[in-house]
Amino acid sequence: MTQETGGFAALGIHPAVLAAITAVGYEEPSPIQAQAIPVILAGHDMIGQAQTGTGKTAAFALPMLSRIDPARREPQLLILAPTRELALQVATAFETYASQLPGVGVVAVYGGAPMGPQLKALRQGAQIVVATPGRLCDHLRRDEQLLSTVKHLVLDEADEMLKLGFMDDLEVIFAALPESRQTVLFSATLPHSIREIAEKHLREPQHVKIAAKTQTVARIDQAHLMVHADQKTAAVLRLLEVEEFDALIAFVRTKQATLDLASALEAKGYKAAALNGDIAQNQRERVIESLKDGRLDIVVATDVAARGIDVPRITHVFNVDMPYDPESYVHRIGRTGRAGRDGRALLLVTPRERRMLQVIERVTGQKVAEVHLPNAQQVLDARIRKLTASLQPLLAEAEASHGELLDRLTAELDCSPRALASALLRKATNGQGLTLAEVEREQPLVPGVAVPRERRERSERAPERGERSSVHRERRAPMPLPEGRVRCRAALGARDGIAAKNLLGAILNEGGLARDSIGRIQVRDSFSLIELPEDGLERLLGKLRDTRVAGKQLKLRRYRED
Ligand code: ADP
Ligand code: MG
Repeated sequence: MTQETGGFAALGIHPAVLAAITAVGYEEPSPIQAQAIPVILAGHDMIGQAQTGTGKTAAFALPMLSRIDPARREPQLLILAPTRELALQVATAFETYASQLPGVGVVAVYGGAPMGPQLKALRQGAQIVVATPGRLCDHLRRDEQLLSTVKHLVLDEADEMLKLGFMDDLEVIFAALPESRQTVLFSATLPHSIREIAEKHLREPQHVKIAAKTQTVARIDQAHLMVHADQKTAAVLRLLEVEEFDALIAFVRTKQATLDLASALEAKGYKAAALNGDIAQNQRERVIESLKDGRLDIVVATDVAARGIDVPRITHVFNVDMPYDPESYVHRIGRTGRAGRDGRALLLVTPRERRMLQVIERVTGQKVAEVHLPNAQQVLDARIRKLTASLQPLLAEAEASHGELLDRLTAELDCSPRALASALLRKATNGQGLTLAEVEREQPLVPGVAVPRERRERSERAPERGERSSVHRERRAPMPLPEGRVRCRAALGARDGIAAKNLLGAILNEGGLARDSIGRIQVRDSFSLIELPEDGLERLLGKLRDTRVAGKQLKLRRYRED
């Protein structure tokens, strides 16, 4: 027996199952596995309580697989899961763990797919059935004997199943199962409704509980950041500059917000996509696959759409919008720190959400430290660090291949190698700011600056508004101009990744204007309209002639509608 599988071997699971988990590289059982496996192997009913990411699937799959009789070609083990994603995930895990057990088959039964093939697979002798309650009931209506041979039942994420309204379906399924079966129930929380089910349908269950505090949450470095609601996108963009992440999931509350943030990130060159309930199931699966294999690095999701995502690459969770309750917070941040890795979770808190932060700290039993947005210097340092790291491996080879060209270019352009290299840098970095002044201009707003009180309060009351509303106003007819103001046009728009506040900040900083002398700012797709004072306009445009925002020239000029 190798050192690595020692922990699992001592638990008494089947040698073929042991071989399979060695092959996938599990070294030690997780705490819930160490406690639950012997109980389940001994045939007891059990209630297992542990947070997301603690390895509950293997906690029931390994012992249950060890108890299956491959010679009997009929359903023996039924696992109920709340969603199609989770059912598929569990089915896949079973296939992995059973890969060295000849003659053992798994079938997944869920809604949104034709019933015929599922029924056929069931009748072909799969011993393991992973199902969502709704679809399983549909099958039961056609064949009430379907579950008569089942000896073991697992309710996975039982609290989620009840939240999704599967109570009645569960009762139908219980009634269709033999009384003399083993029942194991897993749940992150044990509300009254779950205890009731346990009392009614489990026999002298043993309790296995892993405190959340010593699990998921402990491996995750958590921090919060105070921001105003309309500065969230800017805050996210700035955080991304300095956070060293592999893959990241950002949580927002609405479908629209998933689309808005994902496109703001894409505009900045990140490989980002939105994930929400409106996106078709197969497309959602593609998004998750892409996040797994690195075609995407950032997914912006709602809580519902992100349920059950298990991507080990995820190093960061950004809670851009506050979760609705502390449980969802724990669920969300459990998307990182998978399988014993370290993760980082950031929570954006608007001033009126401070109370929720305290509730989260109480429930998780941990302080969520406050951090501040990186300043321009830190952003610059991070950019230069990344630039240096990307150039390092090219040096030797590039000189060999391009050295002569460089000599020729310096001769033709009649410039120093230093001047040429600087020009190439500018080109290669797409005009991204690489001096302190440029970075400051790109990201002019820091919390508490240049947001007058009255405006701030308005945006807090409608947290989904703020900067986005200016984008959405796009197609409306132009508003009449107030006395003494003129409309000016900047050559930058939403597609350049800018928001109204970036323009505002740049004009305030460079133009030396008072905030209230700047009127409405409308960010359209490829340009923006800004109301400025007519008085002194020429001088102002002169001052702003070379101003850059987000690395690009503002090219501000008077706008005349025809
Ligand atoms: P839960 O159901 O508790 O949320 P999962 O069963 O989905 O957690 O497991 C989370 C991740 O941990 C999965 O990627 C799984 O492959 C991995 N995992 C589970 N057990 C172990 C283990 N003993 N060693 C290493 N990785 C594990
Ligand atoms: Mg699970």
